[in-house]
Amino acid sequence: MATIEQTGAEEIAWDLSELYASSDDPRLDEDMAGAETAATAFRDRFHGAVATLSVDELAAAMAERERIDSIATRAIYFAHLRFATNMADPTRGALVARLQERGAALETQLLFFGLEWAAVDDDSAEALLAESGLDHWRHNLRSLRKFRPYLLTEPEERLMTEKSVSGVSAWSRLYEELLGALRVQLDDEEVSLETAMARLYLSDRDARREATEGVTEALAPGLRTRTYVFNTILQDKAIDDRLRGYPTWITSRNLANETTDDAVQALVDATVARYDVPQRYYTLKAKLLGLDRLAHFDRFAPVAVDSEKTPWDQARKIVVEAYDSFSTQAGEIVERFFTDEWIDAPVRPDKRTGAFCATTVPDVHPYILLNYTGDRRSILTLAHELGHGLHGVLAQHLGLFNASTPLTTAETASVFGEALTFERLLAAEDDPRRRLDLLTGRIEDAIATTFRQIAMNRFEHAVHTARRSEGELASERIAELWIQHQRQLFGDSVDIDGYEPWWSYIPHFTGSPGYVYAYAYGYLFALSIYRRYKLEGDAIVEPYLELLRTGGSRAPEELAQLVGLDLTDPAIWATGIDALAEELDEAERLAEEIGVGSDHGID
Ligand SMILES: [Zn+2]
Repeated sequence: MATIEQTGAEEIAWDLSELYASSDDPRLDEDMAGAETAATAFRDRFHGAVATLSVDELAAAMAERERIDSIATRAIYFAHLRFATNMADPTRGALVARLQERGAALETQLLFFGLEWAAVDDDSAEALLAESGLDHWRHNLRSLRKFRPYLLTEPEERLMTEKSVSGVSAWSRLYEELLGALRVQLDDEEVSLETAMARLYLSDRDARREATEGVTEALAPGLRTRTYVFNTILQDKAIDDRLRGYPTWITSRNLANETTDDAVQALVDATVARYDVPQRYYTLKAKLLGLDRLAHFDRFAPVAVDSEKTPWDQARKIVVEAYDSFSTQAGEIVERFFTDEWIDAPVRPDKRTGAFCATTVPDVHPYILLNYTGDRRSILTLAHELGHGLHGVLAQHLGLFNASTPLTTAETASVFGEALTFERLLAAEDDPRRRLDLLTGRIEDAIATTFRQIAMNRFEHAVHTARRSEGELASERIAELWIQHQRQLFGDSVDIDGYEPWWSYIPHFTGSPGYVYAYAYGYLFALSIYRRYKLEGDAIVEPYLELLRTGGSRAPEELAQLVGLDLTDPAIWATGIDALAEELDEAERLAEEIGVGSDHGID
């Protein structure tokens, strides 16, 4: 078990020098100081005057706000990206903290603008917004007003922002650091949480069980501390929501996502109503594995024996070709991530777990962090993050404000890119058993992105609600709520004994409350676009690329219209889920055809 598997990704590191030469780069402080001077000048010029600005002045103010914001964003991203590759280096953590403090100070200087703009009465604001001089800023200016009913006074907002550095963001970082420091004892070697989790995808059941027991054990020490941090973050949010008058714990997230409580509830209802899909799938999977019933550590087991690792170069080829087959332009953009060193690929000690794409600022380019292990999932993760990267590059021309998307549409390009790559992998495979393996992997990913996220959203809903009515929650109480919603998801199809402390390894619950449902939203939305591509072929390529080029400069509903979809119709969610159920039908058919489910599993 102790063998080190080389994938060729070991030396693939990103080059951050386009952001800054190094942490000692004098430009870092010069830029921040420049932004601070500009922010002071901005405040002197516009404070108390936003309501009286002409169209041209308003446009100029927006451009200056964006310029200042871009400087700070660039510096903070640099620090964050350096930190992500080595979270044990205290100097990297210190740079993040230092820049975050300065960033927050900048933000507090500029806060008045959004507040004064939101305070402008609707008639005057709409009259201004109707002018063509504000075409470029219209969506952003409208967005600033959507929080209008929940804003506090300017001094209060300043206090909230400034105190958040030593408040919620400090707690959230502590939680991340606690997770990053977890070590899992396996046999005679000690591994990171990421490495242990990767073993849940092994075909050897004992190895999966051992890894799972190791993770459960590793989650025990410090659970009390993590529970306390989680409680604190829950309480902080409850206080914020109360002071601002948000009707529910999720309302602020929904507003930021440019959607509504009703639309999200429709997504939740449509998904919960179809928990039969994951349950049917896990029942099939038990048969495929020759088991009576799945244990929770069997959920990611491959249904065929295929421990082959895909070398980094081959993964690169598969993914680039998948994008290229859709559109040459997309293929060319994706290729640049490799040639220009925009990716940090390998698993390393003390590196941040998981994967992300940081879009940084439009005058640089996105960066991708991976923990590439060479398994099939790693290839799809690469495809996923490159989708974000493609989206970022295509929307660059819009500038920082218009390029950034709400979470609800942020996953569009990533999920679409994964679908393209999956089809490519499937097309290259003739062996029916391997095809079934690919298909089951696909269904599992879909379940993980939709049903599982909605079950996690139900857990979050329960835990936020409980914290507000019951006070501080013991870890047993949190575990109880966690298990309750996991059990609802799995029904009798999965044995979840021992799964109690596993809520505590998910950083989203503390880092971005309410985040997880956006995965399901984005996935089902992207799946609907992909369905259109399958039906209409190349006719959808240009409209889809146009959707990506539009970035976040339009509301999700308008973006959907570009590709002929209606996001206000709750049926869109059911349609997406039906598409998943069809893949499940096919997997069941294929399993029957090759004669599994009787006495032996596939092998
Ligand atoms: Zn993503």
